[in-house]
Amino acid sequence: MYLATMSNVENPTEKTLAELGVHTPEEVTTLFVELREKANKEQRWIDKPDKFEQFRVKWIGRKSGILAQVTENWLKPADVDLKRIVGQVLNEFRSHLQRLVDQAQQGLDVRAGQAADVRERVDLSLPGVIRPIGSHHLIRQVFQQIEDIFVSIGFSVVEGPEIETPYYNFEALNIPEFHPVRDDMDTFYLELPKGAAVPLLLRTHTSPMQIRTMEKQKPPVRVIVPGKVYRRDNPDATHSFVFHQVEGLAVDTDITFCDFTGTIDYFVKQFFGPSVKTRFRPSYFPFTEPSVEFDVSCPFCGGSGTAAGGGTCSKCKGAAWIELFGAGMVDPAVYGFVNYDAKKVSGFAFGIGIDRLAMLKYGIDDIQVFFQNDVRFLRQFP
Ligand SMILES: [Zn+2]
Repeated sequence: MYLATMSNVENPTEKTLAELGVHTPEEVTTLFVELREKANKEQRWIDKPDKFEQFRVKWIGRKSGILAQVTENWLKPADVDLKRIVGQVLNEFRSHLQRLVDQAQQGLDVRAGQAADVRERVDLSLPGVIRPIGSHHLIRQVFQQIEDIFVSIGFSVVEGPEIETPYYNFEALNIPEFHPVRDDMDTFYLELPKGAAVPLLLRTHTSPMQIRTMEKQKPPVRVIVPGKVYRRDNPDATHSFVFHQVEGLAVDTDITFCDFTGTIDYFVKQFFGPSVKTRFRPSYFPFTEPSVEFDVSCPFCGGSGTAAGGGTCSKCKGAAWIELFGAGMVDPAVYGFVNYDAKKVSGFAFGIGIDRLAMLKYGIDDIQVFFQNDVRFLRQFP
């Protein structure tokens, strides 16, 4: 009586058909059907590459796989009358196992692809990532305002080196070596290799570009020079060792003091608004003669010296005027350094402190905020 089934024989593929009591073609077919169902069932559980590999080795592994056992134990020792049917069914079984392996491999590939899709999926309905692009620094904005005003009345913008020689920073500007004004500009000198021909320093003002421009260009000259300057100042609310200037220079054959004050007055009204007034006071700079200090009527109290709520205006301290910057007619001695004929040409120059101007215009009371890069400050000037 035939009883050889998978369920009641342990490892049937390790036994021969005779040992299993299989003698007819029907019994052979039944054996293979059960084996095939077992393989089908195991294949369905493959969900990871390691389980796939276990399955592959167990069923079609070359040495000890079930397929190899079936060939070895069922086919080879089979009786002559069964051999043909066993060989035939075994071939089908081999193809079937290969199909199962291929399907399982494809299934894993699809799973891996789906996992990658999930990982990399872009959900277009989600809100985007906001990348703030920032804005120009207030100092840069004020530079731009000043450049726009001067360009509109015929000046060009030039820039110069921040590392200068003492000749351009001092001597050619009529500041000889032992001139006391150099004390105000106590300077950062660069450490140079021994034997360097010329000392170098960080420019203390943008004025060296007056010389560099006039060396290159014959009159008429109308330029402004925006840039950074350096002085050995200790940082406090109104001082910084680096700050910003705009140098201005106009030289031609017929420039008068009236052109000079008119230009400055035009600039100040454009910058602060038409209601402000300007005035100048005599002053001293080595490279201008005569030299003046320009004042503007306090833009905060309307030049009254009195705050809106009564009391003294805190910005001008009741003076009604605020110092703006120094300027003057170019000293004829300077023309000598650039081969201009001092008898034929005349002109004016000015040096505007940008930080100070920005503080005045926007009511900022500490110059340090320009350099601290605190976004809470920067955001106020988009
Ligand atoms: Zn005031």
